[in-house]
Amino acid sequence: MHSPEKPATSTRAPSHLFYQSRLRRPLVDRAEGIYLWDQNGNRFIDGSSGAMVVNIGHGNRHVIDTMKEQMDRVTFAYRLHFENQPAEDLARRIAGYMPDGMDKVFFVSGGSEAVESCLKFARQYAVAVGQKQRWKIISRFPSYHGGTLGALAVTGYAALTDPFTPMMKDMPKIPAPTAYLDRDNLSMEEHGLRYADRLEETILAEGAESVLAFIMEPVGGASTGALVAPDSYYSRIREICDRYGVLLIHDEVMSGVGRTGKFLGGDYWNCRPDLIALSKGFGSGYSPLGAMVAPSRMVQPVLDTGGFQHGYTYAGNPLACAAGGAVLDEIERLDLIGNAEAMGEVLRYELVELSKRFPFIGDVRGKGLLLAAEFVEDLVTMKPLPKEQNAFQRVVDIAYDKGLIIYSRRTRGGVEGDHFLVCPPMIVTRQQIGEIVAILADTLRDLANELDLPVNK
Ligand code: PMP
Repeated sequence: MHSPEKPATSTRAPSHLFYQSRLRRPLVDRAEGIYLWDQNGNRFIDGSSGAMVVNIGHGNRHVIDTMKEQMDRVTFAYRLHFENQPAEDLARRIAGYMPDGMDKVFFVSGGSEAVESCLKFARQYAVAVGQKQRWKIISRFPSYHGGTLGALAVTGYAALTDPFTPMMKDMPKIPAPTAYLDRDNLSMEEHGLRYADRLEETILAEGAESVLAFIMEPVGGASTGALVAPDSYYSRIREICDRYGVLLIHDEVMSGVGRTGKFLGGDYWNCRPDLIALSKGFGSGYSPLGAMVAPSRMVQPVLDTGGFQHGYTYAGNPLACAAGGAVLDEIERLDLIGNAEAMGEVLRYELVELSKRFPFIGDVRGKGLLLAAEFVEDLVTMKPLPKEQNAFQRVVDIAYDKGLIIYSRRTRGGVEGDHFLVCPPMIVTRQQIGEIVAILADTLRDLANELDLPVNK
């Protein structure tokens, strides 16, 4: 158990961290299932699967053994020199989970690379089919699509983008559908349509012939706190993209590979994206791994005009792909997608119960085990807590001291607000959810005391 007498901090000066750490974090020692231990023997519940990565949990024997076998055989063979069986097998299996026609898988090593590949592939496709004038990519704010300059240009997150704006193309952004904040007297479905129509307005304002693609997370990640749009949003977005010949890119880096209780977050709706970015749970923390998934009908014109002028050295290497295949084995063998759906319902119920005790929780949302709760000062106006209270950071720190890792951000629609995400590995059991919720309740009680927030009996 986590013992507060043993400080969970290290004394070593880190030479690999490039940010000011408010609190020193301990050295990690080992991990198993949903738990991590530091070198002082303190146990932590990985309530955020790292950064929503370790979907199948830590220390999975099958994945480790498969990787060891692969390492004994061959770890790296450059893709221009050799094809490799683990990559071919994984591509075929992934295609089997994709919407109809999405049958080509371009491997990369992470989420930013997956998004960057989608943006560049979309452009090359447009050029290949004679639409050279299309280059603008519309995205949403808030959003996070990656740290490389291309992915950052479509990211709606001022703190991360501001220093780099002179180095990036200014890409148009529309508001993410924070319908829960809107006070207008519309039904949820009407809200969904209204937010989706912002895409059409922006396409027309930019000049439809110049717009290449629209990128969105079907179930939001950390920046929006697991934002889910009203159902009407998704089909209207597809309609608008079709009307103006704009490609629809789904960033499923966080929501993909089962986390939402379906293989893709977009599977909850009939979204029909043209390109999909995957990562995080794909390698589940065992290996850096990501992919862009595309349909043959788009790949062929690019091949016919010389092939995709893009790629990464480590892409599709046999070790990463063997790890990805073994992760998929475990997802299938243990029915982890079914478990994510079932345990997601249990956890959501518990979060809603907590929101009754702690009325400064104004919204609980998400799908499967991609769940978030948002803090508000007032349930009627949905005003955010004052920034100075630093609630998003305090909730994480208090939980950490109690041995629970959660994830948080202060970003929401037009105004800032605090939310935290609870996203344990997809192997989580009902009893472990009980452990998580008990610590969370203690954490929220302490937070309420510290920030003078209301608590119901
Ligand atoms: N897209 C989304 C939706 C993400 O959540 C992230 C990572 N948080 C990325 C892209 C970038 O992934 P990576 O950090 O692996 O480059």
